[in-house]
Amino acid sequence: MFNAILLQKKDDGTTDARLTQLDDAQLPAEGDVTVRIDYSTLNFKDGLAITGKSPVVRKWPMVPGIDGAGTVTASTHPDWKAGDAFILNGWGVGEGHMGCLAQQARLKGDWLIPLPAGMSARTAMAIGTAGYTAMLCAMALREQGVAPNSGDVLVTGASGGVGSVAIAILSGWGYRVVASTGKTAEAEYLKALGAADIIDRAELSTPGKPLQKERWAGVVDSVGSHTLVNALAQTRYGGTVAACGLAQGMDMPASVAPFILRGVRLIGVDSVMAPKAKRLAAWQNLATDLDPVKLDKITQEIPLAEALVKARDILEGKVRGRLVVNVNA
Ligand code: NDP
Repeated sequence: MFNAILLQKKDDGTTDARLTQLDDAQLPAEGDVTVRIDYSTLNFKDGLAITGKSPVVRKWPMVPGIDGAGTVTASTHPDWKAGDAFILNGWGVGEGHMGCLAQQARLKGDWLIPLPAGMSARTAMAIGTAGYTAMLCAMALREQGVAPNSGDVLVTGASGGVGSVAIAILSGWGYRVVASTGKTAEAEYLKALGAADIIDRAELSTPGKPLQKERWAGVVDSVGSHTLVNALAQTRYGGTVAACGLAQGMDMPASVAPFILRGVRLIGVDSVMAPKAKRLAAWQNLATDLDPVKLDKITQEIPLAEALVKARDILEGKVRGRLVVNVNA
């Protein structure tokens, strides 16, 4: 038996989420690697799954948890053997395949990547999908030629998981980062992560002109909706916006003006189905380039049961930084 959060669909269509015990026989048959989870995380998507606020769960019952780190206990996959340390992010785990907010999981070996040398399972999950996505966004800006001397880089949703890690990464790489936040009381936190300047997200969250004063050489946007549209309208000639999130909304009420008049590039960033080579590169960069002191400021550890409560808080934008879940506490 092992502890897990279990989601079940009730007759009225809402989600019942509870901490329970599952039998090993309840692990999914699909999968060639059985693992012991040491740490998981709570991401925005886990909040959606646990509360049922958005239909991210595609199979019932479901164990949520899109991220896991721990040790392989049994494997028939050629790349994995008992004792190997792994990281799992995405691939529909916690949505269509039982996830990692549990002490055990059965996963596909093709989904796993090795824990980078010198990184603990807790650190990997303090980073989690949010941090790995922040790295994918930062890499996208760099690949598009946005350099530290190109000009200011805007990070929206700054106090959230993606935003906090993006600030730490980009400032560490020498960029001048401007953080957009609704929590202006968190200015000191954001500055400690490396933000040079803070703006109130209200400046970006309502409809604006299709072209505005050119401010940003690059943008990491985890917010979507009007925020993304205004960020595009304020991006400098030839600049790049990496869009990964929808904390404000999935809509994008934009005009083509920034693209056709300023050559602005909009790069979509997906972590869930990202190919293995990209994941390995991102995690290698995270192992070497993310300041552990900053990551510590970003991270709060919670026991498994508390994920049920924090699921609501994360959707309401009340969580600062990252929540790492100790599934054995
Ligand atoms: P968090 O909840 O930790 O952070 C989101 C932040 O967005 C909040 O902290 C808040 O920051 C801001 N925010 C929240 N609500 C609003 C609003 N109504 N209007 C404007 N800003 C708002 O979530 P994550 O950082 O984990 O994820 C952020 C987004 O990125 C989510 O939409 C998530 O689904 C998406 N995502 C996408 C991935 C991908 O593969 N593409 C992977 C990971 C995440 P502040 O208070 O500082 O303004």
